[in-house]
Amino acid sequence: MSDVLLEVSGLSRHFPAGDDQITVLNNVNLSIRRGEMIAIIGASGSGKSTLMNILGCLDTPSEGAYIVNGRDTSAMNPEQLAELRRDYFGFIFQRYHLLDDLTAIGNVEIPALYSAENKTSRQARAEQLLDRLGLADRMDHKPSQLSGGQQQRVSVARALINGGTVILADEPTGALDSHSGKEMMRLLRELHQQGHTIVLVTHDPKIAATADRVIEISDGEIVSDITCDASDDLTQDPVTVTSSSVKDNPSIEDENSPSKFPSKPFSASWFSVVEAFKMSLSAMGSHRLRTFLTMLGIIIGIASVVSVVAIGNGSQAQVLSRMASMGTNTIEIKPGSGLGDRRVGRVRTLTVNDAKALTHLPFVDSVTPTVRANVAVRYGSKAITAEVQGVGPDYFRVRGFNVAQGQLFNEQSVDALEQVAVIDHNTFNALFPDGDALGKVIFLGRLPVRIIAVTQAREMAFGNSDALNVWLPYSTVNSRIYSQNHVNEITVRVSDDESSIAAEQAIINLIKMRHGVQDFFTVNTDTVRENIEQTSSSMTMLISAIAFISLVVGGIGVMNIMLVSVTERTREIGIRMAVGARQADILRQFLIEAVLVCLCGGVLGIGLAYAVGLIISSTGSGLSMIYSTNSITAAFICSTLIGVLFGFLPARNAARLNPVDALSRG
Ligand code: ADP
Ligand code: MG
Repeated sequence: MSDVLLEVSGLSRHFPAGDDQITVLNNVNLSIRRGEMIAIIGASGSGKSTLMNILGCLDTPSEGAYIVNGRDTSAMNPEQLAELRRDYFGFIFQRYHLLDDLTAIGNVEIPALYSAENKTSRQARAEQLLDRLGLADRMDHKPSQLSGGQQQRVSVARALINGGTVILADEPTGALDSHSGKEMMRLLRELHQQGHTIVLVTHDPKIAATADRVIEISDGEIVSDITCDASDDLTQDPVTVTSSSVKDNPSIEDENSPSKFPSKPFSASWFSVVEAFKMSLSAMGSHRLRTFLTMLGIIIGIASVVSVVAIGNGSQAQVLSRMASMGTNTIEIKPGSGLGDRRVGRVRTLTVNDAKALTHLPFVDSVTPTVRANVAVRYGSKAITAEVQGVGPDYFRVRGFNVAQGQLFNEQSVDALEQVAVIDHNTFNALFPDGDALGKVIFLGRLPVRIIAVTQAREMAFGNSDALNVWLPYSTVNSRIYSQNHVNEITVRVSDDESSIAAEQAIINLIKMRHGVQDFFTVNTDTVRENIEQTSSSMTMLISAIAFISLVVGGIGVMNIMLVSVTERTREIGIRMAVGARQADILRQFLIEAVLVCLCGGVLGIGLAYAVGLIISSTGSGLSMIYSTNSITAAFICSTLIGVLFGFLPARNAARLNPVDALSRG
């Protein structure tokens, strides 16, 4: 029978050893026909496993050719070699090489998963195979819960699930007791009778004797190749056996099913994304603590970015709303050269006449002088500390105060030095907790004044809104409390449609002309507002930059753990590659895992940011947080990017592992 399936010619394999190289296989020529059962025997270290790895396309020859079913493997890329492993070969290893985190079924399914077979069908076939191998009641057991013989049978089922045209068994009985060893040999024999091509490596002549053809290898060279025709089944044509047994053998029956899937590349790749997703979830699930620690950096980074932006937005909005209540478009004129000037008290040139002159400027809406009076406020037996100010009738318009009850004073009151006062909401509450204030007489120092109005409550700019204010005509303060002509401040409200900068300049020019020198300064609320906006947004930028750095550090943490995880899972990667995973599959698995870790970290981080917000608002510190959808979206995108960016290197390292190295490191 000349149906050659595997053909090795002039094959050598060298390994580098220091500066030198050692030759493990030397000019090996071998052809294996479809349906043969071959034993390769030789002393330990003679090169059997090396040959086996080349036959299974886990390793490539240094010299010579290896042809599988008429296709030269030297012309194939890693992708095609992976497909060959997946579709032709089934490995049985001495140390079983099952994945510890998966159940028996899960392990058997792996090769079918990489040939993109759907879950239900591959699960059904895995169950059927395990059932046939006498493991019906062990399907959901993990390898650690199975005996050696049972684990080896699971690995046989795994070798068969994609058809197992060629079964490569490297010392399959090496780790088994003699009873399980015999069972295993009976099983291989049975598979041979069903038409599978079997290559068996052993150092035990008794086991080799079960095969039809025994090849002896010594120091990397074939020293004998004996076919024993006496074997009972070999009288039959093995190919005939194959075809007759196909119907009742699920493994062979479905041999061609995987080829249905690659014809639909899109659904196949989507399918493998979904599978890789599930794999990552289960890998994360089985290392919860490590996964959580990996996430921690991302959680903290995202939480700080989101809450910092929220706090920044919140405080900016708060300040701006207070600014708005302070009255828009006002310009304050104060004596001195600037805030904090110690000569302020001695500069007495700012007068009521300056204020009057300002009212004639075209862009001015209203003007008021302000004189502060440092006096105690008393009503009956109650004494309070309030800010007493002498102001003009326009003051309330300039500052945007509304009247709650009564009537404000006017120009006549100012001219007549009337002893009348307007009090604010807080003063009203403090002095008249349960009664009417209008018409009552309070004492400012020794001056009795009659309350004529109460203003509505409102928030004060930059200050506590519980300040107490009492206002009376500035003329009353300047003549009846003090005897002076100057004022402490003049406030101008600029018409809404005028530029406050131009107005400010015109005001400065006018007062300078009246005084002859510039012994005053101005504060423009618009400029103040702009400054606040600028400062708070640059603060947010600064803190966000710090938070971003913590994200990068978190990302490096993820990369570090993923790199460790690749090293730790080298054996897993080797096993997956041996049963047919392509580099792309491994890359995808690790990349998705990294992205998933970062995304979960992102979600937890956003949750943490909200929790921080809740805690802050429950302490009543008055700090308000405004969560912007932008920063949350950015956090999501950021964590995904970090996953991709920092996951790529470890994932690529994993995918580039040489299957043989990966396996032997396990
Ligand atoms: P066997 O399976 O027959 O016991 P192997 O094929 O495993 O032997 O190994 C044959 C020889 O090749 C051994 O001496 C071993 O040290 C060497 N060898 C195998 N793999 C490597 C490798 N990756 N690098 C260097 N030497 C190797
Ligand atoms: Mg070996």
